[in-house]
Amino acid sequence: MLSVQEVNVWQKRWQSLDDHLARLSASYDGRDVSRMRTLHALIGCLRAFGAKHFDFFVTGFAEGAPKLQESLKFPPQFALAAILDQIAYDTAVIEQIANQRIQAESRTGDTNRAMLTALRRADYLAHQALKQFQPQSNGNILREKTTVLTYFQKSASVRVIPYAPVVLVAVPYSCLRNQRDLLAIPHEIGHYVYWHGSFVKDNKPVFPSAVLPEVMPDWCRAWFEEIFADVLGVLVAGPVMALDFQDLQLNFNIEDFVKDDGDHPAAILRPYIYLKALEQKEVYPDWTARLRENWQHYLAKRDAGVSQHFNDSHTSGEVKVETFAESRKFALRPQHSRTAKALQEGAPPDDFVKVSEAITTSSGLLPPDPYLKRPIDIAILNVLALLPKVEAKSWPDSLPASGDINQLYTAFDSFVQGISQNEVAVPDLMLDGDTLYVGDTDLKRTPGETLFRDKIEELMGRGNLGPDDWLTVLHAAGWTTEGPQCETTGGVCVG
Ligand SMILES: [Zn+2]
Repeated sequence: MLSVQEVNVWQKRWQSLDDHLARLSASYDGRDVSRMRTLHALIGCLRAFGAKHFDFFVTGFAEGAPKLQESLKFPPQFALAAILDQIAYDTAVIEQIANQRIQAESRTGDTNRAMLTALRRADYLAHQALKQFQPQSNGNILREKTTVLTYFQKSASVRVIPYAPVVLVAVPYSCLRNQRDLLAIPHEIGHYVYWHGSFVKDNKPVFPSAVLPEVMPDWCRAWFEEIFADVLGVLVAGPVMALDFQDLQLNFNIEDFVKDDGDHPAAILRPYIYLKALEQKEVYPDWTARLRENWQHYLAKRDAGVSQHFNDSHTSGEVKVETFAESRKFALRPQHSRTAKALQEGAPPDDFVKVSEAITTSSGLLPPDPYLKRPIDIAILNVLALLPKVEAKSWPDSLPASGDINQLYTAFDSFVQGISQNEVAVPDLMLDGDTLYVGDTDLKRTPGETLFRDKIEELMGRGNLGPDDWLTVLHAAGWTTEGPQCETTGGVCVG
């Protein structure tokens, strides 16, 4: 429990953040810069939700009349620090977005114009990427009308926030001149949809990872959110997305190229997720064949390095993808010791991503299940089943039936160049009194209420909660708990 003095210190920390947010809000109010209305409303939502969220925990753990039972694993200070970290991180992002927009719009000169154009294009693309998932759209996955705000940062990432339907997407500074780096956006949108979508299996609401079979090995289960975002990305932007992600994997050195970081599919395997999704949707068959050739061509160039790495690391006949935990080792096509060569020969991933050892799952060790010999494929099929009405599209809308692989980038570049002329506005989040709107749509909730009022609001109302319940509140439907998730992979991952 927290003593009176401790509560006092935590209160001062929260108050510092709230003061700063109030100052920002006042300075943005009425400013004639685009998207300022969204930032102003966003701060209103963050302050209202942050106050309620913080108060729930600080009073819940206060000495005297505690309403929350302590967890052995997560002390009260952990919960309070996590909340203030989240609020501080979002505050920094809001400030960064505002500063970039103000700078781009209030100064003249070519570089500022280029920045403004890039931000408008990024906003437009992020909003387009959401289109199929909005309520009442074909895909109809999101719970409420959602808008976007983009900004520059060292690498791509997304802030998943619980207090307002705004996706905060960071794009790398390199987008200023290099348009293909904007292709990080659909993948980042995928993370948002993963956390804020409403999914159904057998007519029951379900969280995405809950659809995976019990025997799914842990290493693949840990990749599921990334696999989801990859599949969603290729459904949005099509073959050019697959090509860009092939190129991104080349940024890894050989050791990391075959490594499982515990979150992302190993780089050597990741492009197959895109190919498999395109094949399953039966779209762009010629481009998919070319993309497969292209990846095999890349792998051939890396063959010697990968083989050398495995020869140095392993003496057995099996080629292992390295994992952090011994128990999560899996084999790449055990009959071939030269992995890259096997891939180069055209073996599809469902042939070489096999489980050859006992599988560790949350319920213990299980022998390899024939059904799960191809766990990545099973994961991909499950993602597609979660998005039954989502169509496979492309950027741009229409592509030539086939051609040189670089035409995909050329077509994408022209598509992006055309955006500023379209003058397509992205709807703002707006706060009118106590009512929130996205564009013309009344969200029918006030600042401070979450998208998940049924669960979080109910728990917050009750008090006297055990650790499992208050951890659900703390988690706040995926409120990002740290900085860009791709930091661990040097920003290559995109989120
Ligand atoms: Zn990601």
